[in-house]
Amino acid sequence: MKILKLSITLILMTLLSKTNPITAQKKADADFVYQVDQFADLRILRYNVPGFKELTPKQKEMVYYLYEAALCGRDIYYDQNYKYNLAVRKTIENIVATYKGDKNSSDYKKFMTYAKRFWFSNGIHHHYSNDKIIPECSKEYFTQLLKGSDEKGFPSLHTSMDGKALPFADEITNIIYNPYIAAKKVNLDSKQDLITSSACNFYEGVTQKEVLDFYNAQTKEGDKQPVMIGLNSKLVKENGKLVEKKWMVGGMYSAAIEKIVYWLEKASVVAENDKQKEALDKMIKFYKTGNLKDFDDYNIAWVKDVESVVDNVNGYIEVYDDPLGKKGSYEGIVSIKDMEASKRIEAIGNNAQWFEDHSSIMDKHKKKNVKGIKAKVINVVVECGDAAPSTPIGINLPNNEWIREAHGSKSVNLGNVVDAYGKAGAAGVIDEFYLSDAVKDRVRKYADLADRLHTDMHEVIGHASGQINDGVGQPHETLKNYASCLEEARADLVALYYLMDQKLVDIGVMPSLDYGKAAYDEYITKNMMVQLSRIKPGDNLEEAHMRNRQLIDKWVIEKGAKEKVVEQIKKDGKTYFVINDYMKLRVLFGDLLREIQRIKSEGDYKAGHDLVENYGVIVDKDLHKEVLERYNKLNIAPYMGFIQPKLTPVMDGAKIVDVVIEYPMDFVEQMMEYGKKYSYLPVEN
Ligand SMILES: [Zn+2]
Repeated sequence: MKILKLSITLILMTLLSKTNPITAQKKADADFVYQVDQFADLRILRYNVPGFKELTPKQKEMVYYLYEAALCGRDIYYDQNYKYNLAVRKTIENIVATYKGDKNSSDYKKFMTYAKRFWFSNGIHHHYSNDKIIPECSKEYFTQLLKGSDEKGFPSLHTSMDGKALPFADEITNIIYNPYIAAKKVNLDSKQDLITSSACNFYEGVTQKEVLDFYNAQTKEGDKQPVMIGLNSKLVKENGKLVEKKWMVGGMYSAAIEKIVYWLEKASVVAENDKQKEALDKMIKFYKTGNLKDFDDYNIAWVKDVESVVDNVNGYIEVYDDPLGKKGSYEGIVSIKDMEASKRIEAIGNNAQWFEDHSSIMDKHKKKNVKGIKAKVINVVVECGDAAPSTPIGINLPNNEWIREAHGSKSVNLGNVVDAYGKAGAAGVIDEFYLSDAVKDRVRKYADLADRLHTDMHEVIGHASGQINDGVGQPHETLKNYASCLEEARADLVALYYLMDQKLVDIGVMPSLDYGKAAYDEYITKNMMVQLSRIKPGDNLEEAHMRNRQLIDKWVIEKGAKEKVVEQIKKDGKTYFVINDYMKLRVLFGDLLREIQRIKSEGDYKAGHDLVENYGVIVDKDLHKEVLERYNKLNIAPYMGFIQPKLTPVMDGAKIVDVVIEYPMDFVEQMMEYGKKYSYLPVEN
């Protein structure tokens, strides 16, 4: 499909005159610089926002208000990640702004690398591994930095981490350098107390058992419309009693939330239509009441708003940063609809019932009536909180299961982000990790569209399919800390199962099954090998997506071992995974899908636990070592994140008449600017 579209574009371009705006736009795209920085294991990219200039002035005004609303919550996510992240951030910002010493020394450069890693991760823990990042410059040098900077710019701290109150310099150095303080943001090692061993700031002074007892007592049996209990609060112990501190106007984080509400109220006035306005007004109401029923109402209204060009996610959304999967991390994503690319994803959504009916899952777990799968491709204008600088490529919301079943969900593919990833892509990986030229060729030619289709199918069909048996609770209750991993596996398997189905060719979204084969080649090689480049020697897999991907691969390889469906081959000392039978592999994906759907539908914790622990967690140490050696030679940082576009309103008196979009080049500059402009919360919450 894409090949075809490209060639037509090329023919058109040669036919059109030089001054044609389409040609000019293409030229501007070709000149766009995607990657601007690389350090540690990170790369900093930029994304373009096609379609922004074509918005009406009123739509641009609305985008601008939502952009401000998104950024105003930035502090919340830092604080959610760890209680002292804001103190660390203000310390870093003050050093960067006021340090008088040599800024060209190798020590200072090491400090700056730490600063950039900190910003990238929204805190002291690695955004993916959740491990604490320790600066490479020495503690002594860091103390020098503190002394050489403007004293008045540092925050004041009232902690007493070692049981006694220490001077600020000692305290902050301890927070940053002591490997035993807040060692891990989210600990998923089920042998430990997940709450006390995790540094995230969702709970304080409570144990895992206390948290579970507290929330289990609130679960109403037989409730057909359960709210996501605990989503919008920090749970603390005060005078021996458990208390929820709600994130709302007048509650915890109020100073930032009031600003968010201020901008949302402005956006509501210029909404494109009534449905969009209703959703925004309900979002505002939720921020004011903190009532989770209001959050559900907002989500229902948001799902119904399908006509609008401008869209907005703002609030406590994903629960991956909480080891118990209850607390929502703040995020803001403002986007505009990509009309052309949306046609592909809409064609998939229109066939949702067909996909459900023909799935490999048991009939009793199939939805008789798959409702309201609304899919589209968007171009992001700004992202913040949990969604930035590292971003998702697809989103499917809301997360509350009963709303998804009763009202459907909205599924979006972040088109311009995926595009930027592709353009900054690493060709070296294909050459290094695939064995035959034919497979390399296929991946090069077809993987781009195959990836997009995988994301579309994962979000639009995957998360929306299947049903839970009557009387079985939500996955977060039944499958606990394995729920996220198993849900991602389930959605991936739906995508994989259909990527080798003629149906996708017949509905016109995939030119041939070669794309499906490329998707399988990638899924096996990337997840059995390439993804291991993201973790440290000796570590096992922690992150839900990484776990689910290895789980799927190891399971199908094991079940297909006799027939050599996928073979592990050693050539010239290098390991390769080769798929011998794509159709049999498809059947195995279907078998695992049926089992994971059964686990979700029945709430079979034991089976879920065993699947994840046996297949998804443990890393093959020898293979890991080999992958690291091969990958390091390529000198490609494995993680990517983005500098956000900058919006500036053009005023006529008090009225916004236009909004200008710019694409900044400097990550540090943007982080410093945000730190100044959107700093609303105190350093200790
Ligand atoms: Zn997903």
